[in-house]
Amino acid sequence: MPVEKKSVSRELSVKQVAALKKMTGPVNLSGANTEDLLRELLVRLGEDPERDGLIKTPERMAKALQYLTKGNHEDPASVLQGALFDVNYDEMVIVKDIEMFSLCEHHVLPFYGKVHVAYIPNGKVVGLSKIPRLVDIFSRRLQIQERLTVQIAETLQEAIQPQGVGVVIEARHMCVMMRGVEKQHSSAVTSHMLGSFRLSDKTRKEFLALIRNGKSESF
Ligand SMILES: [Zn+2]
Repeated sequence: MPVEKKSVSRELSVKQVAALKKMTGPVNLSGANTEDLLRELLVRLGEDPERDGLIKTPERMAKALQYLTKGNHEDPASVLQGALFDVNYDEMVIVKDIEMFSLCEHHVLPFYGKVHVAYIPNGKVVGLSKIPRLVDIFSRRLQIQERLTVQIAETLQEAIQPQGVGVVIEARHMCVMMRGVEKQHSSAVTSHMLGSFRLSDKTRKEFLALIRNGKSESF
C-alpha cells in the first residue's frame, strides 16, 4: 500500500513539472541575456517586438530597470561615512520634501512621493546633501514603503548616533492607482521614530508640525 501511494505522488509531481515547463518555457534561463528576456516578455504580452516603436524597447527597458535598481549595488553607510562632522548643536535638523521615486516589490510599478527626515544631533551631524542621497540609494531598489522608511531612519541612527531620528514618507502607488483598486487620490503615509522622537511627545509633535507647516499643494 505505501509503495502504491509513493508511485502515485511521484507521477503527479512529474505531471506538474511538465505542466510548469509548458507554461513557463525552459526552466533555466540564466544563459539568456536581459534584452532577450524582455523581448520574450513583449511577445507574451501580445506585442510584436519587431515593430518600429518596439525594436529598441528591450534595450531601453533593461537600462531603465538597471538604473531604477542601482541602489542594490550602493552602500549607504559608506556614503555617510565621508560626511560626518562634529558639532555643538542640539536642535532639530530637518530635511523635508525630499522627492522619492521607487518601485514596489510586489508589482514592479512605481510609487513616488515625499520623504521628511529629522534628527537631533548628539555631537555629530551629517552633510545635508547626504540625506537625499540616502533616500535615493534605498528607493532605487525593489521596495515597500514601510521598509524604505525604516531603512532611512536606522541607517542615520547608526551613522551619527543622534538623540533621535524621525522619518515620514507620503507616497502614491501606481499599482493601486492604475489598477483602479482604490481611490486614485489616496496616498499612504508611513513613519518611523527612534530615540527622543519615539520617547518624547513634544519632539514628535514639533517634527510633525514642521513638516506640515507651509505645505501648499499635494505632490
Ligand atoms: Zn504594488
